[in-house]
Amino acid sequence: MSADVLIELIELTRHLGVPEHEYVILGEGNTSARVDEETYWVKASGSSMVNIGPDGLVLTRFEPVLAMLEAGDLSDGQVKAKLIEAKADPAAPGHPSIEALLHALCLRLPGVTFVGHTHPTLVNAILCSERAEEATAGPVFPDEIVVCGPASAFVPYADPGIPLARAVWKSLTEFTDEHGESPKRVYIRNHGLIALGANSTEVKNITAMAVKVARIVVGAYALGGPRFMSAADIERIHTRPDEHRRRAKLIGAQSPD
Ligand SMILES: [Zn+2]
Repeated sequence: MSADVLIELIELTRHLGVPEHEYVILGEGNTSARVDEETYWVKASGSSMVNIGPDGLVLTRFEPVLAMLEAGDLSDGQVKAKLIEAKADPAAPGHPSIEALLHALCLRLPGVTFVGHTHPTLVNAILCSERAEEATAGPVFPDEIVVCGPASAFVPYADPGIPLARAVWKSLTEFTDEHGESPKRVYIRNHGLIALGANSTEVKNITAMAVKVARIVVGAYALGGPRFMSAADIERIHTRPDEHRRRAKLIGAQSPD
C-alpha cells in the first residue's frame, strides 16, 4: 500500500516539476499523499520535483505534525526538530518540508488523498497582484467548475510553516462550512496554489486547469475584467449528472451515478 502510493506520488511530483509547465523551478513546490490514518508521504526539504526519487519523499506521521498546530509559538529550530521527530522511520533519509504542516491538514479532508503545492508563473501573476482576491472570486467557464469545483479557497499571505498552516486551516474550515464539501483549489496570496485530489490524476488536472484559468483571467483584464459566472449557472454545472460522469471519467474514477 505504502509502496504503491509512493510510486504514484513520485510520478505526480515529477510531472508537476516538468520545467515546460512553469509550475515550479529549482526546489520550489511540494507534494504529498495519504497512506492510511496514521501516515502520509511528503516531499523532503530541499529536493527538486522534476527528478525526485524515493529518497526525496519522507513517510511522516500525522499526529505529531498536527499537534504542532495546537501548540503555542514554536521557534524555527523547534519546528525543524519536531518535523524530524515526526518521521515514521527515524533512520530514513531526508526530513519533511516545512510545508508538511499544510499537507497534513489538506490530507485530513474528506475525499483528499493526493496534494500538489506549486508556484505556477501564471497563477502567481494574479496572486502577486493588487487584484488577487477579486480575480479568483469565482469560476469563469464551465470546464473550470467540472475540474476545479464551484469555488476556490483563498488564504492571505502568511509566513511559511506554522503561521501559513494555521491560515490554511482557517480558510479550509470556512470553505467547508460554506460549501459543504472540501475545496479542490486553494490560492495563497503572494505564494501559490494547492491542488487537492482524490488521486494523482486529479491533482494534475486541477493544476493544469488553474493555470489555464489564470491565463484567461489575465487576458480578460485586458478587455475590461473577467465576467464571472452566475451562482445559478455555477450550481447547474456543478450538479448536472452528465458533468458528474465527465468529472469521474477525467480522474479515472467510478461514476457516482
Ligand atoms: Zn510554496
